[in-house]
Amino acid sequence: MRVFENKSVLVLGGSRGIGAAIVRRFAADGAKVTFTFAGSPAAAHALADETQSVAIYADSTDREAVISTVRENGPVDVLVVNAGIGVFGDAVDIDPDEIDRLFKINIHAPYHASVEAARKMPEGGRIIIIGSVNGDRMPVPGMAAYAASKSALQGMARGLARDFGPRGITINVVQPGPIDTDANPANGPMKDMLHSFMAIKRHGRPEEVASMVAWLAGPEAGFVTGAMHTIDGAFGA
Ligand code: NDP
Repeated sequence: MRVFENKSVLVLGGSRGIGAAIVRRFAADGAKVTFTFAGSPAAAHALADETQSVAIYADSTDREAVISTVRENGPVDVLVVNAGIGVFGDAVDIDPDEIDRLFKINIHAPYHASVEAARKMPEGGRIIIIGSVNGDRMPVPGMAAYAASKSALQGMARGLARDFGPRGITINVVQPGPIDTDANPANGPMKDMLHSFMAIKRHGRPEEVASMVAWLAGPEAGFVTGAMHTIDGAFGA
């Protein structure tokens, strides 16, 4: 029997990159997987066909869409909140609406999704949010809002771990360093600068992040909660 056979997994933001690797991993391990997408319907439908999972349009900027998606597809055994964006540039020049959009996707959606999922989640349930090593370390200018959003997830997980722990539900943050995706390609212009901060001088692979998520969601991680799990080639060390 596969590890997640008979388990229901919901991934918010699963169409591409790290989220798609997480969808593939849970599907390969036997789970019934549902995932959301917003801007990439073609990629989402192709992934759903490939993995026999269900793709649902739900924009993470829309609180009601996030909450109703979690409610209508629950109760789930595992919730993964992966959807996240970056807005980069000189802080004094960035459009404040863009910053508020980032906070909605990167902070508000994880909070409301986690709370909604926990309402009916069974004992042994798992909530995993994809943060970033930038929640711990922000070594370059132009990314303050992104870093703030990822630091916010740390307090969120610590607090919600207290709320949900008595019911046997864990909540953890996975904090990747540079990972090869559309958002941060391994051959992109930032690569040498990013690798200069690292002990293992390469981008990580989305599958490596998915492995950590799968372990946290699995039966061996029941005593792990309210914690940050960094996977970054020592970017933050
Ligand atoms: P990508 O840009 O490659 O993919 C982002 C994913 O999030 C897509 O599936 C996208 O779906 C989804 N998404 C974005 N906005 C929304 C929205 N409004 N509503 C629903 N879904 C949305 O990013 P990565 O895979 O690189 O990043 C995934 C997560 O990992 C993010 O939280 C990011 O901050 C974090 N991370 C990434 C790192 C990296 O180096 N790559 C490093 C550290 C953290 P769609 O296209 O359908 O809108």
